[in-house]
Amino acid sequence: MSSHRIGLLALQGDYEAHGKALERVGFPRCDIVEVRRFSDLESLTALIIPGGESTVMSMLLERFGMFDELKRRIVNGMPILATCAGLILLAKDIVGNNQMSLGLLDIRVKRNAYGRQVDSFHAPVQTIISSIGKIEGIFIRAPRILASGKEVEVLAMYQDEPVMIRQGSIVAATFHPELLPDAPVHRWFIQTFI
Ligand code: GLN
Repeated sequence: MSSHRIGLLALQGDYEAHGKALERVGFPRCDIVEVRRFSDLESLTALIIPGGESTVMSMLLERFGMFDELKRRIVNGMPILATCAGLILLAKDIVGNNQMSLGLLDIRVKRNAYGRQVDSFHAPVQTIISSIGKIEGIFIRAPRILASGKEVEVLAMYQDEPVMIRQGSIVAATFHPELLPDAPVHRWFIQTFI
């Protein structure tokens, strides 16, 4: 029986929480693989880019010679689930910052954008996906999406701004669905793209 390889970009950040979320859902015929080097990118069915520090992640991708290959694979349609720093890493336009990004998500994003006092908060987030419904959004030093292009579909809003989006086979959230016990976003992502 053929199995799918779901990669976790494991250079930095909370990739382990994503791995646990996938394990909780327990997908048959899906192997979870930690991605740390160029050769790990081979034969992935999909990749999760976790939260963490987007500046560090882009620096490590470049240092380990993975940046261009990762970008090429995403352009060629590899499904991506990105959260928080992962979303920033994919954005075309990062406000006031010349950090390197993959530049594949047509959004303008501001890092750490909910103010210094409020580093983290929880808030209910209503998605437009019926199998996900309303979930608890866990925002940790979260970015804000200030603008998005016409190819970007908004999957969830919070305070009149998109917090979960889809562009082609890239799904990205400014919050942390991997911390939800029943992992509804991971479940939907795998069912939709794998
Ligand atoms: N503030 C982080 C960044 O700019 C993102 C925070 C997170 O991933 N929880 O990369």
